Amino acid sequence: MPSGTRIVEFDRPDMAVGTHTVAEAWARVNPPLSPQEREFQKDRVRRLLKSRNAALVAHYYVDADIQDLAEETGGCVSDSLEMARFGRDHAADTLVVSGVRFMGETAKILSPEKRILMPDLDATCSLDLGCDPVAFAAFRAQHPDRTVVVYANTSAAVKAQADWMVTSSIGLDIVAELHRQGQKILWAPDRHLGSYIQRETGADMVLWQGSCTVHDEFKGIELDLMRKEHPGALVLVHPESPASVVAQADVVGSTSRLLAAVTESPATTFIVATDQGLLHKMRLAAPGKTFIAAPTAGESATCKSCAHCPWMAMNSLKGVADALEFGTNEIRLDPALGRQAKVCIDRMLDFAAARRRDTRPGPDLAREQALFSGIGPA
Ligand code: SF4
Repeated sequence: MPSGTRIVEFDRPDMAVGTHTVAEAWARVNPPLSPQEREFQKDRVRRLLKSRNAALVAHYYVDADIQDLAEETGGCVSDSLEMARFGRDHAADTLVVSGVRFMGETAKILSPEKRILMPDLDATCSLDLGCDPVAFAAFRAQHPDRTVVVYANTSAAVKAQADWMVTSSIGLDIVAELHRQGQKILWAPDRHLGSYIQRETGADMVLWQGSCTVHDEFKGIELDLMRKEHPGALVLVHPESPASVVAQADVVGSTSRLLAAVTESPATTFIVATDQGLLHKMRLAAPGKTFIAAPTAGESATCKSCAHCPWMAMNSLKGVADALEFGTNEIRLDPALGRQAKVCIDRMLDFAAARRRDTRPGPDLAREQALFSGIGPA
């Protein structure tokens, strides 16, 4: 665990699995592999993916080697919305989901007939940990007149209570549409993303007070100082960040939106407020450009200017290979719970498909088009 780490508790002693604190998660992160060991494990993964008719589905925040292998072997590296879609539509019998537990659960909900493996089932998320299904049911009961919209970063037991699931790439558009229809919203669990959507749409929303342990640590005051040091830099911010950070952004959006911005914009320097795992893809997408991690004030889950999710860091090459070889770390879900949780996910996927066919851009897309209009591709 890096020095200066502040332990943040997300205590859920009732959970059957999981690393309940940031400290516990960092203690489970494997040390870096030697070059020989890396190549050995990569070869194992390549061979086992073929022999097991499996596909590797990875999030942008995991280890760069795992991201590269997923692409090389015909899998996918993406945000959680695209991970869900890709896994559902892929013909493989087995999906290895490299990310955090709710991503594996979502894959199982959408593809109950497939075997879903993960490098480490204890890799979880502070948002999931901080949204206990029983407490959430009590929160819902206090607001029976509201449409329940939950972020993807929740357990199947919370999704089963929701009308809609959203990801950061489509949450704004869905809430804007619900608001247009006159619906009032109950939102969970990320308070910063919820506040951002509330500000942008004007929707009537009550918010669960969860947070992402990585994005919550970005600091507006320090970002202001960093922007003065790099006056030409474009500031890219994930909306799980606090309002003081979002307010300074040139682009606010999901990991996919931030990644697209580095090629669409003519800027050559970017300050990036999201997990540093995304910088690997940004460097590949725009070689020669400069990427600076936004400051986290030095007391974050990791350390100053190196925001990284400890649960994402638990994903290792060896974990991927072992899961494939031994069939360990399989996601198992009560089928009835899975069917119930699927309702809110299907609604989001149907909305996303309709929006892609629709020529009218939602507020997220419209703002980005306005930002880049007249600039042209880099
Ligand atoms: S980066 Fe934040 S939101 Fe994403 S998995 Fe880690 S704790 Fe959860």
